[in-house]
Amino acid sequence: MKNSTTLYGAIEGGGTKFICAVGSGPNSIRAEARFATTTPEETIGHVIEFFHVQEEKLGELSAIGFACFGPLDPNPASSTYGHILPTPKPGWTNANVVGLLRKEFDIPIAFDTDVNGAALGEWRWGKAQGLQTFIYLTVGTGIGGGAYVQGNLLHGLIHPEMGHIPLKHDLEKDPFEGACPFHNDCFEGLASGVAIEKRWGMRGALLMPDHIAWDIEADYIAQALTSYTMTLSPQRIIIGGGVGSLPHLLPQVRKRTRELINGYIQSPIILENIESYLVNPGLGNRSGVLGAIALAEQSLQKKP
Ligand code: ZN
Repeated sequence: MKNSTTLYGAIEGGGTKFICAVGSGPNSIRAEARFATTTPEETIGHVIEFFHVQEEKLGELSAIGFACFGPLDPNPASSTYGHILPTPKPGWTNANVVGLLRKEFDIPIAFDTDVNGAALGEWRWGKAQGLQTFIYLTVGTGIGGGAYVQGNLLHGLIHPEMGHIPLKHDLEKDPFEGACPFHNDCFEGLASGVAIEKRWGMRGALLMPDHIAWDIEADYIAQALTSYTMTLSPQRIIIGGGVGSLPHLLPQVRKRTRELINGYIQSPIILENIESYLVNPGLGNRSGVLGAIALAEQSLQKKP
């Protein structure tokens, strides 16, 4: 049974660092630690040690939520459940990251994408409270999206890969060939932090707000948001990540998205109030780790 003393273990697994926490929500984080992402064994080893130490101090964990970079297998019925799927990240292809945790912890372990985790965190405590269908998009080093559809995180065949959709790419306006090793000029290939740095020779945070880079960036993000709006009919789209959270970008993205939708979606939220349709995360950069707590919490509420 869930009660005020329930403790969850949270893991936000990123490509460069893992953030771990123990607690039960935004106002009750009891401990937190960060580890560089090295090999799966070493990184998960640090996580296990951290949780064991905290269990001695604070008491037993009831469940663990693990929101991880992907691609990954989130389907408990699959033989490769809990594994990282083929990835360019050295050493992580087919790593059984849940299996490593499972050896040490005989409690529910919820495993999902970092962006699905962040979506659930925003639903539980952030800007998606009360919504039935919405999207959480991160635009940072990479681009990914999590979808919550009619009350459930969307997995489908594997899980959505919203960063890898094709976009219109005007080579006269933007001759940059793209940075995705699979598709070159997909959304992530054109608009990720990596793409911005490759195209302009400096990090996005260092480019002035009136730089042409942001017209181009806003157009790509708006194209993607228009596709998501037409496809899933989300009630809101939350845009986080290091690039997506830059304060000058969101107004441009809203304007361009409304232009691209061009009145076709006859909803007052888009026609008159797009400020409440396209928003930054309510939990800021804490969506991921708090989302992992929300995943853990949900794993106890689900029927077996
Ligand atoms: Zn791609």
